Amino acid sequence: MQDIEHVDVRGRRQLEHWRPELKYDVLVIGGGNAALCAALTAREAGASVLILESAPREWRGGNSPHTRNVRCMHDEPQDVLVDAYPEEEYWQDLLKVTGGLTNEKLARIAIKASATFRPWMRKHGVNFQPPLSGALHVARTNAFFMGGGKALVNAYYRSAEALGVQVRYEAPVDAIELDDGRFVAARIGAERIEAHACVLACGGFESNLEWQREAWGQNEWGEWTADNFLIRGTRFNKGVLLKFMMDAGADMIGDPTQAHCVAIDARAPLYDGGICTRVDCVSLGIMVNKNGVRFYDEGEDFWPKRYALWGRLVAHQPGQIAYCIIDSKAIGRFMPPVFPGIKALTLAELALRLNLDEKAFLQTVNDYNVACRVGTFNHAVLDDCHTEGLNPSKTHWAQPIDTGPFYAYALRPGITFTYLGLKIDERAAVHFNGKPSANLFVAGEMMAGNILGKGYTAGVGMTIGTAFGRIAGVEAARSASAAGEREQNQELQHATA
Ligand SMILES: Cc1cc2nc3c(=O)[nH]c(=O)nc-3n(C[C@H](O)[C@H](O)[C@H](O)COP(=O)(O)OP(=O)(O)OC[C@H]3O[C@@H](n4cnc5c(N)ncnc54)[C@H](O)[C@@H]3O)c2cc1C
Repeated sequence: MQDIEHVDVRGRRQLEHWRPELKYDVLVIGGGNAALCAALTAREAGASVLILESAPREWRGGNSPHTRNVRCMHDEPQDVLVDAYPEEEYWQDLLKVTGGLTNEKLARIAIKASATFRPWMRKHGVNFQPPLSGALHVARTNAFFMGGGKALVNAYYRSAEALGVQVRYEAPVDAIELDDGRFVAARIGAERIEAHACVLACGGFESNLEWQREAWGQNEWGEWTADNFLIRGTRFNKGVLLKFMMDAGADMIGDPTQAHCVAIDARAPLYDGGICTRVDCVSLGIMVNKNGVRFYDEGEDFWPKRYALWGRLVAHQPGQIAYCIIDSKAIGRFMPPVFPGIKALTLAELALRLNLDEKAFLQTVNDYNVACRVGTFNHAVLDDCHTEGLNPSKTHWAQPIDTGPFYAYALRPGITFTYLGLKIDERAAVHFNGKPSANLFVAGEMMAGNILGKGYTAGVGMTIGTAFGRIAGVEAARSASAAGEREQNQELQHATA
């Protein structure tokens, strides 16, 4: 047994144990939700399990500590979830946001699993709570984690350690040894770690700014679009193994520019700004680009079905920046973001403070105000407040911007996670030339692109990671057990020969 000493965030000494001499049944690469679900399930199936997490202990968990909720189907009220959210409605929501770029078979597997995986999550220490006020439209569809994703990740690690799962931090895997599509060993520099089966769960390539730059290229104004991206989550998802598997000939799915991409406060840090940098008042106001011009319907649908569209829309604007403009009527109707809005008593002053062309900006606001047909404003339903004769139109929640003080938020594209991934089947097996690997599986962001060709609906990331993390764990344990038996038989044959 090898001990590695760490000092945790509170300055306490922590010892981490693992056994380098052992050939583990299942090696899990990554340390977020999908990895932990795979590790726990494989361990429950009797496998010995080692997790390799590239981050140090205090930064463990990748993007998962930033999460708040998971989208779940249910046919009747379930503890924190009200009413019903049947399979068909969940599927139709997904179909709509992805524009059909989704694998129905795999999507339905994830959706169906979401009806039953929460008791298992509870067993491993994850608790749920109703949504906070201000988190709109999700009390029916999304179960919120008590204490957020950080509590979920900590609970899973506690449970994994109690069950005997071994964890190594600061263990960035840079290569995989494969033999005709079979996993043989993982490599960390010169070190080799063998296992009977492996689950890849090490996120997308969102934090790899060079790869983002290459994928997005230059726009019509000669700008490198990705140079203005901010990464909402971890700095550790660099796509090293995604790239490695691509080069090794694994079957891939998805477009490298497709991602969950939110318009976030331009003042957010480059990494790990998290949920509090999201600005949730777009549907209550208007969005203008740096020319002071509107460019998309701000009231197209409920915010949880649209928020992940806006990062991409802003990415396609000149300078990759846009401004969300609201008036005092919107205050109190959305979750206050961490940075306060820029405040002005008049629209002209607001234009000045945003460095926008005053004439163009005032024209845009005036055109919008004149086009508003206000019926009965209700932000909780798709109401009848809309514009007429305006391009682009605003189809719901359209009210004139006329009540000072006025507020603005400068927004930039905030990449959450990328959709380019490894192609899988219903067993979460990695494929080579259409053939499933016998012992290499994948879960979470690394395969989310099978279900999310584009678009997003809030909470589906954790649905996919939890569902396929558990499938990958079961399949890896099964494959390892078969391999173990084969090895034992061979040893027996040698001994008796
Ligand atoms: C701010 C924010 C809020 C979000 N909110 C929600 C939400 O409320 N609901 C929802 O469904 N989704 C949400 N998401 C998306 C969600 O985080 C992801 O869908 C989910 O966490 C993905 O889990 P994962 O295990 O695949 O990846 P991650 O949790 O990112 O884990 C990847 C892991 O792999 C490790 N790793 C990377 N490369 C290597 C390597 N080479 N070797 C070893 N380890 C490696 C990383 O350190 C990390 O531990 C949010 C994301 C962000 C950023």
